[in-house]
Amino acid sequence: MKYTPSAGTPSLRKAVADYTEQNYGRKVAVENIIISSGAKQTLYNLLFTLVNPGDEVIVPAPYWVSYPEMIRMVGGIPVTVDSPEETHIPRAEDLLAAVTPRTKAILFNSPNNPSGAMYPAELVEAVVRFCESRGIWLIADDIYHKLVFGGATAPNPLAFTDKDPESTRVIVINAVSKIYGMTGFRIGWAVAPKPIIAVMNNIQSATTSCNSGVLMAAAEGALKGPQEGVQEMVTALETNRNTMLMELAKIPGVRVAKPQGTFYCLPDFSALRKDSLALCNFLLEKAFVVTVPGKEFGAEGHLRLSYCGTAQDVSEGVARIRWALDPGSPKEIRIGGKTIARDW
Ligand code: PLP
Repeated sequence: MKYTPSAGTPSLRKAVADYTEQNYGRKVAVENIIISSGAKQTLYNLLFTLVNPGDEVIVPAPYWVSYPEMIRMVGGIPVTVDSPEETHIPRAEDLLAAVTPRTKAILFNSPNNPSGAMYPAELVEAVVRFCESRGIWLIADDIYHKLVFGGATAPNPLAFTDKDPESTRVIVINAVSKIYGMTGFRIGWAVAPKPIIAVMNNIQSATTSCNSGVLMAAAEGALKGPQEGVQEMVTALETNRNTMLMELAKIPGVRVAKPQGTFYCLPDFSALRKDSLALCNFLLEKAFVVTVPGKEFGAEGHLRLSYCGTAQDVSEGVARIRWALDPGSPKEIRIGGKTIARDW
């Protein structure tokens, strides 16, 4: 296979345009779309395109760990805005109050990594309308938009703008990584006004040249093929979410906001341990459970837990956490065929 066009093969860009029309009710041209090596590269190239040194980008916390780093890497200043702990959903007035003359963009992710929170339509609408009226870019990282529970649908940011694809300030990022469980295929995309896509294309062409043609063909297959697998995966994730919540409820002192989507949750362990990095290391060492410290997501005192394994993995993982942290739980546990006694 030879080099491919740097913005993506025309047929994959067309498949993404069709996906955008079907899922966002928005007719866009192929020139409104760029394909990159995962949503991560798309986001980086987009921030490199939009952000000048000293520009501010507002990011509601908890946020995906890479956002502040990427913003800094392009010379920008991440401005994080806290959300109420009970919901992890930011208040529109708090986000808008963080806007200054240097604000270039608001960047959010809903359903959210790390909390699983889904931002309500009113919030998305308020932010979209504000950004459109003030000429501030709204970057909607939508990569979990199909991983939503209870038969709900994630609010569509493009539904709240009256502007056409060339004059809108709303940019949607998406990928095959989460929707189709194709993380290693590294195919993501942005839907944005043509001049933005053209600059992103220059960056891509000067850095990675193009995406893998093989992987673009696979992504096209996923987008055009049968879609039942997505719903099956969501059903399995929802069962796992329920299992995780049930198991977490057995650990005294742990509180968690019920995730509405994704395959993460962000329980608050601060009543037991305040330092999330220390807790994460403790659980790895003592209980052989991998967690991610909430501190990295702007949520100290919390741990991000994933429930995308089997239901058995989920219940065993949380049972081990309980054994490690709850003095009221049985002193002994079986891990990997061995009996281990708690001696702390
Ligand atoms: N955005 C968010 C919120 C994510 O959680 C991730 C991956 O974990 C990405 C973007 C990156 O996606 P991709 O694997 O398509 O690069």
